[in-house]
Amino acid sequence: MLISIVAPCYNEEDVIERFHDRVQQVAEEFLPLGHDMEFVYVDDGSRDRTLGALKRLAEEDSRVRYVSFSRNFGKEAALLAGLRHAAGDSVIVMDADLQHPPELIKRMVDLRDEGYDQVLARRTRTGDGFARTVAARLYYRLINRLVDVELVDGVGDFRLLSRRAVDAVLALTEYNRFSKGLFAWVGFPSTTFEYENAVREHGRSSWSLRSLLNYGLDGLISFNNRPLRAALYLGLGLLLCAGVYTAWIVVAALVNGVETPGYVTIITAVNALAGVQMIMIAVIGEYIGRIYYEVKGRPHFLVKATNAERTKDLIR
Ligand code: UDP
Ligand code: MG
Repeated sequence: MLISIVAPCYNEEDVIERFHDRVQQVAEEFLPLGHDMEFVYVDDGSRDRTLGALKRLAEEDSRVRYVSFSRNFGKEAALLAGLRHAAGDSVIVMDADLQHPPELIKRMVDLRDEGYDQVLARRTRTGDGFARTVAARLYYRLINRLVDVELVDGVGDFRLLSRRAVDAVLALTEYNRFSKGLFAWVGFPSTTFEYENAVREHGRSSWSLRSLLNYGLDGLISFNNRPLRAALYLGLGLLLCAGVYTAWIVVAALVNGVETPGYVTIITAVNALAGVQMIMIAVIGEYIGRIYYEVKGRPHFLVKATNAERTKDLIR
């Protein structure tokens, strides 16, 4: 059986060599069991010397395949490229920053042998700030109400996929990719195990608060049209409130005679409604924006250098 390790790398020059050392040690352990391993590293347009390091690794180790993007296309694109280039019967997706302990690979493969198509590693939130932990909890509670696939807090991209699960994910060709959701969407028998989160050793996480927020919104919107449905209900609710309030004003006017206060009420109502309408338009706009990107049909990434034969032919 061939096991592929897929790792997206963005500015990981400090760790990539150690990462390869560690996974390659795991590979040694697998050899006696008759499992071969290959390593697919995707350089997501790094601005440091990650590509040089990958080339060196590929020279030393013929099982290393690297794909380097023409610019930074984002982790989702890097994952997709990695999956496309992986030939294994099982594919393990993990971060190159050693936050996903390579020692867990053994456990994943064992679970795979029990017949699961997806083995998900769920991290504890050790080392995360309090605010981030709370925000994540709230987010998952909210998003699971809104989307129709089950997303679990702490389950990220560290997972093993069987060949048929990989093929299923690759068949989803959408441009706006939210892998957490895509993996959940393809389904198949899945199992989860927990591991202690490792704090990043080198470099910095490339997630800023803003990118996290945007990622969260992507997850919310890229899965179904429930936000639109929510807009419908909100509109109906507002209409109902307006009806009740109007009735109340009319009755009050009939009972007490006509007065003309209500300046504050009017301003408040106008502003609130304008705000709500803008949000609704923005929600619609989000969907249209996605349609716009989908219909353009651009490639998910462009390759600048690789040692993968198939892709080499494509870029020449
Ligand atoms: N990554 C990538 N492209 C990007 C950002 C990150 O390929 O634009 C890779 C990065 O090299 C790492 C993984 O995705 O292997 C996770 O990134 P990071 O550690 O920054 O995120 P976190 O662990 O905080 O979720
Ligand atoms: Mg990380």
